[in-house]
Amino acid sequence: MKKSISLKPYNTFGVDVIAKNFSIACNENDIFEFIDIHSKNNPLVLGGGSNILFKKNIERPILKINIKGINIIDEKINHVFVSVGAGENWNDFVEWSLKNDFGGVENLTLIPGNVGSAPIQNIGAYGVELDSVFESCNAISIKENKLKKFKKKDCKFSYRSSIFKSNLKDKYVITNVTFKLSKKNHSINAEYKSLKSLIDKRNIQKPTIQIISNLVKEIRTKKLPDPKIIGNCGSFFKNPIMNKLNFEKIYSTNNSVPFYKISKNEYKIPAAWLIEKCNMKGFKSGQVATHKEHALVIINLGEATGLEIFNFSKSIKNIVLKKFNILLEEEVNIID
Ligand SMILES: Cc1cc2nc3c(=O)[nH]c(=O)nc-3n(C[C@H](O)[C@H](O)[C@H](O)COP(=O)(O)OP(=O)(O)OC[C@H]3O[C@@H](n4cnc5c(N)ncnc54)[C@H](O)[C@@H]3O)c2cc1C
Repeated sequence: MKKSISLKPYNTFGVDVIAKNFSIACNENDIFEFIDIHSKNNPLVLGGGSNILFKKNIERPILKINIKGINIIDEKINHVFVSVGAGENWNDFVEWSLKNDFGGVENLTLIPGNVGSAPIQNIGAYGVELDSVFESCNAISIKENKLKKFKKKDCKFSYRSSIFKSNLKDKYVITNVTFKLSKKNHSINAEYKSLKSLIDKRNIQKPTIQIISNLVKEIRTKKLPDPKIIGNCGSFFKNPIMNKLNFEKIYSTNNSVPFYKISKNEYKIPAAWLIEKCNMKGFKSGQVATHKEHALVIINLGEATGLEIFNFSKSIKNIVLKKFNILLEEEVNIID
């Protein structure tokens, strides 16, 4: 265990806060030992720090997960089951899958962070969410210090959420995740608008999983700021989902609003569009701003504190609420 270290290298916002107690787990035993000592002190589990905002110095003991390993544990005619350590980098796992010609995670190329954090908010991009390839995960209960297996139905996956981000938030440490990937006849997801238009533009007749991954890489690197250069956590807010009545209220005054009809009575609209309509795309205050290409991404222009970033996000929320009567919900985990 390390005492009083800076978390700046451990969060992609690049916020410089001090952690009082910081431990690293390389295997399950490290986690059991850590929980034995710290279970009563509300410990905080940390992956790659790409979806977390530290508002101030952290008194809670922190456990950084560094469990490695990618292993094929079962094979069927069409599928392979792969168990991956929670501390593996997500994109390294995607690259490993592509190298082996296993399909299912190609649309999720280049999402930062670790494999163990991926189920927490059911990561998603370019028309695919993690739950489509998730088989199960193992996690250790912080209260009982016991390992438990969670099957897909136990995880209650939904848009940017799961049981680990709701009822069981901060209650379990995920140690490894098992994925079900296709071995052949891959089902290609190429319908997402920006992906499809690039495929059409290049006249690609039969996109493979490798082609999809390359196109996703190309779109992402053009659109999203690299956290190694500009501190950020990707999308700061979730895209709001509303009922038909509320959607129609917005549509009646803004018929250019982009939307996705989830069901008969549920509509999702881009939070980025709402922020843009409030003239806050590229808006800057002190050392914090919204990105000029992507209004949903809040960026640290240099030495912003966590509290400054949080206050900036609050002002965006208030302005959107005032104009559209929609309360944006944070996608990023805010740590007090
Ligand atoms: C540039 C950029 C682009 C992004 N694009 C996307 C995108 O397209 N789609 C998307 O869904 N997300 C995206 N994100 C957000 C982020 O990459 C994901 O949410 C990712 O899964 C977070 O992983 P992490 O390891 O960094 O998690 P962290 O930030 O370390 O942790 C996130 C949460 O999970 C908890 N946690 C972490 N590890 C464990 C564990 N082993 N057990 C229990 N709890 C744990 C933490 O306590 C915290 O609450 C983006 C972020 C950035 C910076």
